[in-house]
Amino acid sequence: MFGLIGHLNSLEHAQSVAQELGYPEYADQGLDFWCSAPPQIVDDIKVTSVTGQQIEGKYVESCFLPEMLATRRIKAATRKIINAMAHAQKHGIDITALGGFSSIIFENFNLQQIKQVRNVQLKFEQFTTGNTHTAYIICQQVEQAAKQLGIDLNRATVAVCGASGDIGSAVCRWLNARTDVADLLLIARNQERLQALQAELGRGKILDLETALPQADIVVWVASMPKGIEIDAQMLKHPCLMIDGGYPKNLATKIQHPGVYILNGGIVEHSLDIDWKIMKIVNFMDVPARQLFACFAESMLLEFEKVYTNFSWGRNQITVAKMDQIGQMSRKHGFRPLLFENSPV
Ligand code: NDP
Repeated sequence: MFGLIGHLNSLEHAQSVAQELGYPEYADQGLDFWCSAPPQIVDDIKVTSVTGQQIEGKYVESCFLPEMLATRRIKAATRKIINAMAHAQKHGIDITALGGFSSIIFENFNLQQIKQVRNVQLKFEQFTTGNTHTAYIICQQVEQAAKQLGIDLNRATVAVCGASGDIGSAVCRWLNARTDVADLLLIARNQERLQALQAELGRGKILDLETALPQADIVVWVASMPKGIEIDAQMLKHPCLMIDGGYPKNLATKIQHPGVYILNGGIVEHSLDIDWKIMKIVNFMDVPARQLFACFAESMLLEFEKVYTNFSWGRNQITVAKMDQIGQMSRKHGFRPLLFENSPV
């Protein structure tokens, strides 16, 4: 059985869906209440592969909210993640994806030190960040959506915001090894980590966001930001492809400009309907029966292939070979990257 540990986008989002999740008493409660709420299994899921194989899974709502990071409620945030992991394990789940901020909190606050939660001895090998599949899917989106827009990669400048992160560094590795992108712009705050990536790649320009954006034909957004940022569309190239892989989204509002094309990043579409209620309730996707986060799909793929190991774990260790491996599983079972419905140009 596979598991998905998820959370909602904001307190407002949580309050609006609490009723439908089966917790009407949470609907008018503030952040304090969510800080003390325990994890819950809120859905049972069935997925059928295009091979005909069927698997079952569970969705664990951790009750974490990004406002807990924004208001420095670190203890509450870390408790949410570790308790959700123990909850998944207690319910006999073999492989569980840590969605959205869950893996970032796990890494940033060294939760691997916590091995025991009450009577549950945590088995970290039964969890995956899902980041290898996410990075693979984002790279497919760069390659295929660029084609839809008529952007030639061999003449394009690609900026990666969050380049030194787990997903960002993997995206840079793939673009460097597997495509002929003309230029790579590396963006994040910590310069040392960016320099280490630049040395590993043997290329890439380290720039701040304001300098990088006007130069980029394609921007990959994979920064871990609790709140999105506002961008002035006038300063961008036209056309400009923006792939927003952040969760919550890195772009605060959808940019309304005819030359700027925004694609939800790290999202896959399954070839068959998935039997679940949760995606409809949380309203993350346009087509909730088929679309999902690539990190969630990674735990499904590992369940289909009976690979019960933490396929994606730690930080900045995702290789192009592992991206190939998960990509092959993804195609085999009928997942494909989300693209523009009709070529917009
Ligand atoms: P990491 O924490 O490993 O990396 C985050 C990166 O963002 C780092 O390079 C960090 O560098 C940078 N960053 C953080 N804040 C800022 C900022 N204000 N400006 C510029 N750069 C910034 O995260 P992951 O790689 O694991 O995840 C990246 C994003 O992808 C997250 O939003 C996550 O929620 C999302 N995600 C999406 C999934 C999907 O299925 N679609 C699955 C999993 C994650 P520095 O701190 O030096 O600035």
